[in-house]
Amino acid sequence: MSRSDEISARLEQVKLELDRSEFGKSAHLIVVTKTFPVSDVEILYQLGQREFGENRDEEGAVKSKATPGDAIWHFQGGIQSNKLRSIVQWADYIHSLDEVRHAIKISALAIEMGKQQSCFIQINLDGPDTRNEKRSGIAPGELSTFVSDISELPGIKVVGVMGVAPLNGDPAPAFALLQECSTLLKSLIPGATFISAGMSGDYQVALKHGATHIRLGSSILGTR
Ligand SMILES: *Cc1c(COP(=O)(O)O)cnc(C)c1O
Repeated sequence: MSRSDEISARLEQVKLELDRSEFGKSAHLIVVTKTFPVSDVEILYQLGQREFGENRDEEGAVKSKATPGDAIWHFQGGIQSNKLRSIVQWADYIHSLDEVRHAIKISALAIEMGKQQSCFIQINLDGPDTRNEKRSGIAPGELSTFVSDISELPGIKVVGVMGVAPLNGDPAPAFALLQECSTLLKSLIPGATFISAGMSGDYQVALKHGATHIRLGSSILGTR
């Protein structure tokens, strides 16, 4: 089986599952191409896939250049301040905004480049017991303050919330919490309706909790 046939079969399988699920029909499917070669991105594009996700600036910068202008690129990794100029250049959406200082920088860069940067606010779904400094995202209780802190930044467009389920345990309560955060966010910014949630192992659960954007890597491209 060629790599193209392999990716095509997996992509069709996922799309079939999305079509069959009550909640999946209208969800955006982002294929996470991190660690996979540019040739896989080209195959995916030829198969009709248009939304791609990357965790690292270095990979996103290169791979995004390999796709025509109608491809949509999502950055979902931890933000490093010194990479932001590049990220704002290639990323249509940043999913991992969780620091005011990054928002200030993103806004300035976006204005300089003549764009508005669409951003999801990343929420830490680990819960108070397991929450640690290494995992990204603001605490759910900080959302209102965070939104008011960044609300005057002209180069930022907040589009929704993003979350990653805890490493161990049931993803359902985590995604339910993210959905509550989304409701709060919509009360503050009515247009910010998106929920980025769900990876290969838990996207069906995320869809039940209102995910509008699912981020799938291994279920389409194989194990890394
Ligand atoms: C790697 C990654 C994904 C995709 O994970 P898979 O398990 O391969 O589907 C989604 N979201 C984030 C934030 C990731 O880092």
